[in-house]
Amino acid sequence: MQSLLVHTCCGPCFVYPYGVLQENYNITSLFFNPNIHPSMEYVRRLEALSGFCSLNGVELRVGEYDPTIYFKEVTGRESDRCRMCYSIRLNEAARFAAEKGYDSYTTTLLVSPYQKHELIKELGVSIGNNYGIEFKYWDFRPGFRAGQTRAKELSMYRQPYCGCVYSELERYANKLIAHSSKLTGLG
Ligand code: SF4
Repeated sequence: MQSLLVHTCCGPCFVYPYGVLQENYNITSLFFNPNIHPSMEYVRRLEALSGFCSLNGVELRVGEYDPTIYFKEVTGRESDRCRMCYSIRLNEAARFAAEKGYDSYTTTLLVSPYQKHELIKELGVSIGNNYGIEFKYWDFRPGFRAGQTRAKELSMYRQPYCGCVYSELERYANKLIAHSSKLTGLG
């Protein structure tokens, strides 16, 4: 059976791809996500994935958590931040996969209809070529809802925003405006 390193952004997004791939590949999950903010959110997501991996006997590897890696790349280029964010994570996954001798690598980012799917595919292939490792492409998006439903059944933590501080601000923008209006008496 071929070995496949699956860069994993979070537990719920791992559920569907794992179900599809586990019969044909020897899977290792790599959690490397320095974009996640704040640190306790990172811990919650890692714990959710770790629980799922333990339950299913999946090997889990965890990369370094250093948010400065993310901020160094995106600061001043926030409008194009997802490109850098994908690139950081796929670079590490490809590097790790090549170094450890995996047959190929992929990412759970391909399951989310909210991500820039074509960009992830393009970066995955070109970064894989740089490291001499094949990027396996699948369009997992049709299974996104089923994966999220299963994650809910398993009582896995499901995060309310993509990951970075910018996505968190966008998620709660209306609440923030309402609160600050109330506190400043301008509402
Ligand atoms: S919105 Fe999501 S993919 Fe884009 S930079 Fe933030 S964490 Fe990364």
